[in-house]
Amino acid sequence: ASQGLQQSILGLIRDVPDYPKPGVLFKDITPLLDDSAAFQAVVTAMAEAAGDVTKVVGLEARGFLLAAPVALALGVGVVPVRKSGKLPSETYAETYDLEYGTATIEIHRDALRPGDRVLIVDDVLATGGTAAAAASLVRKSGAEAAGLSVLMELTFLDGRDRLTDLPIHTLVAV
Ligand code: AMP
Repeated sequence: ASQGLQQSILGLIRDVPDYPKPGVLFKDITPLLDDSAAFQAVVTAMAEAAGDVTKVVGLEARGFLLAAPVALALGVGVVPVRKSGKLPSETYAETYDLEYGTATIEIHRDALRPGDRVLIVDDVLATGGTAAAAASLVRKSGAEAAGLSVLMELTFLDGRDRLTDLPIHTLVAV
């Protein structure tokens, strides 16, 4: 993103120490979402970087807030990837490791089809586990994971290393 946009994003993401647990510095995007000019600029920048995609996949929950306007800006549909048990129809599921335990995310089986080129959208790229699992769901659906777009990348967690076959677009890296 441009220097100006990066500065405005950095100024509108609030650091919350020790949330949701001690030692984690949580990146809270709610001030950015509440600033319509900055939010619009973020959505435009994500859409411009997207390339030629046919669907946008949003990751629960904050990814939904970015994926939906990006999809509208691109003129394509938006598909939710949700935590286990939330989607009503038949799903594909993917389980991945967390620091303690595992997590499972799902996508509707009929949401994507072969030939779809899919942009995955989330707010923050941390360890990359969630994005890697989402890319697996896209591939299980027979579609192509064309890219990952995030507002903020936490580079010290090396999430990129787990996503070697996925082009990544980041608006700000910290
Ligand atoms: P990960 O699978 O480790 O890349 O984590 C990605 C998911 O957890 C994303 O959906 C982020 O919204 C959330 N997340 C992880 N770490 C943070 C953080 N420090 N601040 C805000 N969100 C985070």
